[in-house]
Amino acid sequence: ERTLIFLITPTYTRPTQAADMTRLSQTLQLVPDIFWIVVEDAHNSSRSVEDLLRRTNVPYAHLLGPRPPTHLDKRSGRGVSNRLRAFEWLRENYSNTTQKGVIYFADDDNAYDVRIFEEMRSTRIVSMFPVGLISTLGLSTPIVSRKSGKIIGFHDPFIGRRKFAVDMAGFAVNLQFFLSQKKATMPYKVGYEEDYFLKSLGVQIWQLEPKAENCTQVLVWHTKTKPADQPKLSLMKKVTNYTET
Ligand code: UDP
Ligand code: MN
Repeated sequence: ERTLIFLITPTYTRPTQAADMTRLSQTLQLVPDIFWIVVEDAHNSSRSVEDLLRRTNVPYAHLLGPRPPTHLDKRSGRGVSNRLRAFEWLRENYSNTTQKGVIYFADDDNAYDVRIFEEMRSTRIVSMFPVGLISTLGLSTPIVSRKSGKIIGFHDPFIGRRKFAVDMAGFAVNLQFFLSQKKATMPYKVGYEEDYFLKSLGVQIWQLEPKAENCTQVLVWHTKTKPADQPKLSLMKKVTNYTET
């Protein structure tokens, strides 16, 4: 029985969505044994996302996880309601199963080297690896002790009060471990989503598994897609059918 990678992708309607989702979907076509959980931040599913999933040829679940009205402000994390919905779905479908799997948060606008998926596939508890293009440092990475080969700290432009100063794209979690941690959750608190989530899993730093050649290789980048000009959504809706709700 092969280990599946469960990719959780939050997405929402904006002018660059089709570009981002097309790039991601075609990356995933190169990856064996994955299951794509796409969660829209919307009350109704969009036709363009549905069509893209149908033609991609990757097993998927298409879910809705709209932000609650209490968390529409800037201090509430982006993609959190979507990821919480994916947690629910994983528990509904895989509790009391022996499915071997690894959970990874794959935002729709990042850039992925397909080798990252084989790195994370062997995750026993929580694995970590560097992420490129993070803020002013251009990098977020665990620090690995040359002596012990273990993760002993983090190099990230924002340490704050975080125990785990990592980016959402910088770690993966074993599915059965996640399912066994019933209190696992993600807060809406911007900047602390990763840290609180990892704390809620009850994982300790010494348990973290460094990947990507002891965290020396960048295989995922925190890219952000920017349109050449700022398209007006109202005009785009008139001239194309790029989204239907
Ligand atoms: N996202 C969402 N609703 C929003 C904003 C973002 O579902 O209102 C999704 C987005 O598609 C992405 C993830 O949440 O997959 C993180 O958002 P974004 O890339 O804007 O955040 P950043 O990378 O700047 O932290
Ligand atoms: Mn992003």
